[in-house]
Amino acid sequence: MSSLNAIRAAIRDVQDFPTSGILFKDITPVLASAAHYRSTIHFLADKIAGTGATHIAGIEARGFILAAPVAYKLGLGFIPIRKQGKLPWKTKAASYALEYGEATVEIHEDAIATGQKVALIDDVLATGGTAAAAVKLLSLCGASPVVAVFLLELTSLAGRGNLVGTRIETLISY
Ligand code: AMP
Repeated sequence: MSSLNAIRAAIRDVQDFPTSGILFKDITPVLASAAHYRSTIHFLADKIAGTGATHIAGIEARGFILAAPVAYKLGLGFIPIRKQGKLPWKTKAASYALEYGEATVEIHEDAIATGQKVALIDDVLATGGTAAAAVKLLSLCGASPVVAVFLLELTSLAGRGNLVGTRIETLISY
């Protein structure tokens, strides 16, 4: 097992990516280390175990890399929240402003059945716009997340302010 400090130390800061002024938190060195990746999945799963979640919703694209193994580890179903135009069936959509740019995410309108409980996972909580859009999609499907879990939180961007009413768990804060 890797410690959270070791995982934190493996995250690479990339200045001015994808646009000038953004300090991008690159998690690929974490993913490339079997011990760090596996431990990250364990730590994320620990935040969800006991919440009663029946499904994990992951946000494309880096969220998928974390959410799918957590779903597998906990024996839960996986629900993709994808960028516009990627899902084949009938969808519900939500648009939001990113730390850089703007985007729309979608979910299949029948993704969540009555009584199912969803935990949301993404890699980074920055401004919270993405996660807030994902929460909106879940609510359009009749659910509210039992918890939203992130590997990293960029506290200076105050993303929690966009997620009032949602329980938030993060592993590493900057
Ligand atoms: P936000 O909607 O501002 O909370 O942005 C969160 C989403 O954008 C996540 O899916 C991240 O993958 C990505 N993201 C935003 N800012 C950063 C950053 N500084 N470093 C890495 N990823 C980021």
